[in-house]
Amino acid sequence: MIVSGSLELKDYMYEMRRCMRCASCKWLDHIYMPDNRFVYRCPSYAKYYYSKVAYGRLKLGLALCENRLSDTPGMKDMVFQCLMCGACDSGCKRNLDLEIMNSLEALRGYMVAGGRYPEAHQRVIDHVAKSHNKFGAPHKDRAAWGPVNAQAKSDTVYFAGCGASYQDKGLAKATDKILGKLGGYMLLPGEQCCGHPLFAMGHYDAFRKQMEANLEAMKATGAKRLVTACAECYKTWKVDYPRLMKMSTKDLPFEVVHITELVAPAVAGGQIKFNGRLDLKLAWHDPCNLGRMSEPYVHWEGDRGQWGCLEPAQGFAAKQFNRGTSGVYEAPRQILAAIPGVEVLELKRHHEFSWCCGGHGGAPEAYPELAAYSVSERLEEVKDAGAEGLVSACPYCKQQFQDGFKDRDHKVPVFDITELIAQAL
Ligand code: SF4
Ligand code: SF4
Repeated sequence: MIVSGSLELKDYMYEMRRCMRCASCKWLDHIYMPDNRFVYRCPSYAKYYYSKVAYGRLKLGLALCENRLSDTPGMKDMVFQCLMCGACDSGCKRNLDLEIMNSLEALRGYMVAGGRYPEAHQRVIDHVAKSHNKFGAPHKDRAAWGPVNAQAKSDTVYFAGCGASYQDKGLAKATDKILGKLGGYMLLPGEQCCGHPLFAMGHYDAFRKQMEANLEAMKATGAKRLVTACAECYKTWKVDYPRLMKMSTKDLPFEVVHITELVAPAVAGGQIKFNGRLDLKLAWHDPCNLGRMSEPYVHWEGDRGQWGCLEPAQGFAAKQFNRGTSGVYEAPRQILAAIPGVEVLELKRHHEFSWCCGGHGGAPEAYPELAAYSVSERLEEVKDAGAEGLVSACPYCKQQFQDGFKDRDHKVPVFDITELIAQAL
């Protein structure tokens, strides 16, 4: 029996064997490749070369499962020098139905279960356990960013997340202003870290605790909708929570919405009008967790039959594959294009081919050189596009880009889309 979304490494033996080292997880598609400068999709390979790419990690996982390998000095780096950005998964699934990201996630879990993970990750895990946020700040200060439009009771819950609650409070204030225009909201009582950093680092037991606390709090509100403005929180609530509960996103008792999915139709319907003007050419960065990683999760159970075919094979009972093409891509572009004076530019690697900002997978904590490399590559694309500003929808992307611009001659302002919306209202 195969259960989709399993976190057990042995459940991906088929994928790890069938990987044919075609390298579509490493390069952009050759027919699509925009030029000969921005050719890679995997930041880990582009930084370290050798086998530090999905296929190398799959073959390592296979050797571990088949007891051909137990431990090597470089194994930990081999597994964790990866941004968990999902670009390899979208690349592989252009041709094959193999669950590459699920395999990498299970490999991390396997390493964590054996106590083989970067020491730097332990600090984040301890912070979340003790303070319920990744920074180790007091939990009582979580809503100290100053909500103005929050109500005691509402059908809409705003889940602010650790980044906007503690690090970049302007994003929470901007979201508060936007939601105030859209009928109001309530905060999640006792909100805790969604658990995303723990999931990305492979600590699934700790993640489950965060999930249970937040789901319990959400259930107690009776609200019908949960809104986030953070790409990581969005993916966690929409994909990872149902996945761990062995249910599909559509069967959650509430809807999970990114703020851009609320604002885009409100702009199109005239409910939100932009009065401010912004004469800028803005490049839009598709966050991994808002785009390719955030397709609705569809739970599936079945079998692998002759020649590896999945059964049931047809109709509604067939397994649905997340190919990265149905994430949130158009809503932010539509919003930016509606702000008077804004011209929206595409970076060379966009939509499901987007290049990771580097702020993911525990890299900034354990492998800062990988995080710094990935952001510097993205900034080369920004320069190439001739952008006068860079926009994303995740506090961690914004932080990465701002840090990345510090030591560069070529600087452009970095925005979160909530700030631009709030400013233009
Ligand atoms: S694209 Fe898929 S099959 Fe090809 S090398 Fe990468 S993981 Fe293996
Ligand atoms: S998750 Fe990202 S960094 Fe890791 S192997 Fe895949 S493409 Fe490379």
